[in-house]
Amino acid sequence: MRKIIFATGNEGKMREIRKILENMIVNGEETQILSMKEAGLNPDIVEDGQSFEENAAIKAKAVAELAKDAIVLADDSGLEVDYLGGEPGIYSARYLGEETPYSVKNSHIIKLLEGVAEAKRTARFVCAIAAVLPGGEVLCEKATIEGTIGYEEKGSNGFGYDPIFYVPSYARTTAELSEDEKNEISHRGKALRAIRERLEGKR
Ligand code: IMP
Repeated sequence: MRKIIFATGNEGKMREIRKILENMIVNGEETQILSMKEAGLNPDIVEDGQSFEENAAIKAKAVAELAKDAIVLADDSGLEVDYLGGEPGIYSARYLGEETPYSVKNSHIIKLLEGVAEAKRTARFVCAIAAVLPGGEVLCEKATIEGTIGYEEKGSNGFGYDPIFYVPSYARTTAELSEDEKNEISHRGKALRAIRERLEGKR
C-alpha cells in the first residue's frame, strides 16, 4: 500500500481529494490517501513562489522531505480578475488580510468593478497541483475554470470567492452549484483528475 499525503489542512479540500483520487493504483500498488494531520505532519511552509505552480511545488517538496517513501501532493489556487490585472491571483487567501471575512473581500471586488461592462468582467479560478514522487521527481498540473465577476454575492455553497464567481454556462455562481456539480467543472477537480492520470501512467 503506497501512502499519498495531501499537503493541506483544509477538510473541505480533503473530502474532494478523497473522492477524486479513490482507488488509485500507482505502479501496480494500491494507495491510501492521508491528510498532513493524519500523517502526523505539521511543517511550517513559506509560500514565497511567484506562480501557482511554484507555490504548489514548494508545499509538496517541504512535506516530501518529512515523508520520504510517500507520494506527496499539494495544491495552490486562487482567483484572477482580468480587469484588476490578474489580482488577487496567488495572493487570493491573503487579499485584504488573511483574517478578513470573504463577505468583505467579495464586496470590495464588486465595488472595484462598479460600472464595468459584462464583457470586461472576465475572471478565472486557477489551481496547480504538484506531486513529488518517492524518487524526488516532481509532476505538476494546472487547470482553470472561466467565468465572470457578478454584480452581487449569490449562493451559500462553497467558500471564498464562490459567491461572486458566475459561470455563464450554468447561469449560476459556483456558490449556487452543488458540491458534485462544482467538482465536475472546477479548476481543482480538473487538476486533480489530470494528476491522477499522470500518476496512473495514463498520460
Ligand atoms: P490556497 O488554499 O492557498 O490554495 O488558497 C487559495 C485561495 O483562493 C482560497 O483561500 C480562496 O480565497 C481562493 N479560492 C481557491 N479556490 C477557490 C474556489 O474554488 N472557490 C472560492 N475561492 C477559491
